[in-house]
Amino acid sequence: MSVIRMTDLSLDGKRVLIREDLNVPVANGKVTSDARIRAALPTIRAALEANAAVMLMSHLGRPTEGQCDEEFSLQPVADRLGELLDREVPLVGDWIDGVDIEPGEVVLLENVRFLEGEKANDVELSRKMAALCDIYVMDAFGTAHRAQASTYGVAEYAPVASAGPLLVAELAALGKALEEPARPMVAIVGGSKVSTKLTVLDALANIVDVLIVGGGIANTFIAANGHGVGKSLYEPDLLDTARALVTGGEGRAGIPVPSDVVVADEFSADASATNKAVEAVSADELILDIGPDTSTRFAAILKSAGTIIWNGPVGVFEFDQFGNGTKALAEAVAASDAYSIAGGGDTLAAIDKYGVADGISYISTGGGAFLEFVEGKTLPAVAMLEKRAS
Ligand code: ADP
Ligand code: MG
Repeated sequence: MSVIRMTDLSLDGKRVLIREDLNVPVANGKVTSDARIRAALPTIRAALEANAAVMLMSHLGRPTEGQCDEEFSLQPVADRLGELLDREVPLVGDWIDGVDIEPGEVVLLENVRFLEGEKANDVELSRKMAALCDIYVMDAFGTAHRAQASTYGVAEYAPVASAGPLLVAELAALGKALEEPARPMVAIVGGSKVSTKLTVLDALANIVDVLIVGGGIANTFIAANGHGVGKSLYEPDLLDTARALVTGGEGRAGIPVPSDVVVADEFSADASATNKAVEAVSADELILDIGPDTSTRFAAILKSAGTIIWNGPVGVFEFDQFGNGTKALAEAVAASDAYSIAGGGDTLAAIDKYGVADGISYISTGGGAFLEFVEGKTLPAVAMLEKRAS
């Protein structure tokens, strides 16, 4: 990878625009897991110590693009970042036409997804972002798989486009860990971004030996097997894809589908949890976790793994009664002798919640980005930095 590194540049007195991935879980105006914020701290501190005027950009959640929505404001992130840096971090609402800032200061720019054209990598928006700075720093490993205005377009037009220390460290660590992985290699893919992750599974199935599925992804496999999944999160358009994956083939990963699940009749913090066989889910129920038999079966697979990669909780672990599957797998990953890599915003929150960080070999800030990296793809944001360095 030949890119310009932030650490090779003189930042003294320069306007430095840093794209971080500060997309963290927030509840009631408070950050509930700050792992991604802490991961960005060394980069932010280094830029401040070098006397740069530091402008931080990030997205948070999935707001309707082009609309400011209080629910997706980065204010809780600015508050937490301020505590960690022990200085005030102002949140700038209207920033795209210019930011008032002096060297040695730091501001957080409001959610990039409030701007029309962010996701489509709009040229005009990208140029405006680029015009804010002397040096652009891409440090958001977790968003490096997306070619958007704040991760890709801006790097095309900024006077200088460089890679931040976190991005460089993530790429190096993951590259090394995956050079010659010990077998069997087991992946756990769960969570709620079903359509994006299901398409990654096809490539992953060529690389890993066993693919454990959970969350909305598992629900899609359960439905593909002909079972009713009621009101569960799943992807009806990808049933054929799921069937083809399960059929496998020469050198393809085995995919053990859950045999029991935990259901509720509503999606809420105080819904009551019931264990059921997958065949028994009724039309008005939602599957919110894998069941205890399935957890035991999956934990045994993890125990004898040589390498484990994990992205995505296997249930709605934010509600304790639907967290047992994720807890059991988190503990099995931590107890396993395998080299284990875990990543993803909510996955990091689950690791925090169950206190298993010490048992995991490498914790990445990326989820989707890390899965695409495992596939062997060059991440688009990195490709742009390489282009700008050549
Ligand atoms: P990550 O951030 O680690 O990449 P995702 O964002 O894809 O993971 O998914 C995390 C979310 O998936 C969690 O908020 C969790 O509640 C949700 N989830 C897990 N299982 C289910 C399920 N069965 N139904 C609905 N949501 C689920
Ligand atoms: Mg997430």
